[in-house]
Amino acid sequence: MNPISYYNQPQYRYYSQPYYSDNAGNYNGYPYYERNNESGAGQAAKTLGLAALLQAFSSLLQKGSNYLSNKLIAGKEFTNASNVSKVADSMIRNNKLNVEVGYIDSFNKQNYASRFGLGRELDAVAKGQNAFYADNLKLAVAPKSKPSLILHELGHAVNAKKGFTKLLQKSRRYAGYAPMALLVANGILGNSQDGKKNFVERNAGILGFCAFLPTIVEEAIASSRGIKAAKKVLNNPATLKILKKNYALALGTYILAGIGLGVASKQSIILDGKQQ
Ligand SMILES: [Zn+2]
Repeated sequence: MNPISYYNQPQYRYYSQPYYSDNAGNYNGYPYYERNNESGAGQAAKTLGLAALLQAFSSLLQKGSNYLSNKLIAGKEFTNASNVSKVADSMIRNNKLNVEVGYIDSFNKQNYASRFGLGRELDAVAKGQNAFYADNLKLAVAPKSKPSLILHELGHAVNAKKGFTKLLQKSRRYAGYAPMALLVANGILGNSQDGKKNFVERNAGILGFCAFLPTIVEEAIASSRGIKAAKKVLNNPATLKILKKNYALALGTYILAGIGLGVASKQSIILDGKQQ
């Protein structure tokens, strides 16, 4: 699952964990080997070298993301389900959230799916491989087998009520367009007379990453809200570090996805240059 194209359904706004995903951080929409290479031989070799390097790096990011996902899926719960539910209830109460919480398994998933007009989105949740918050549905779901993920999702629900974090959430929809937007900007700026690269061309990687940065920050804030609530309601349990570790693994997948977007942005600029 690509963390950018959440279920590819723009009508739903899911703040979902990409940790289970086998595509997190993978934006390889620009297969460099399929493009014609019409630039000079020396330059071509150089560009091809960098493109190949980026491609290799991109699949490394993919592997890293899968590793973190698997670690998280195999991770322990920091407390039992009834304690998690106590924390979740307190988050809902204290923030006056109008959100339904669902702990999904294979028995109740169909019931939730039909009540909320969902398709197969709950399948991965029932399997313990995903959790999400859908702001338009006012629904937060986590696997029954991994209830602690709900605290992070409720963190998103709180974020959706506050101006700044709401803005960060909204940016998520556009982040995936970064490679395309940079390509357009690069075309507009063009090259200067002396053949020097423009700002976008030089900084495509970091600009692509920056497009994803608001998402990473919002994810971190959502987790920190969940951790804070657990600490308070459960009296600073010694096992809180397990929750922190799980959430850190999830955040790691987002950071890798951001780097992946940077790489994809760089790739798109390089390929564009080769086509000219
Ligand atoms: Zn999240």
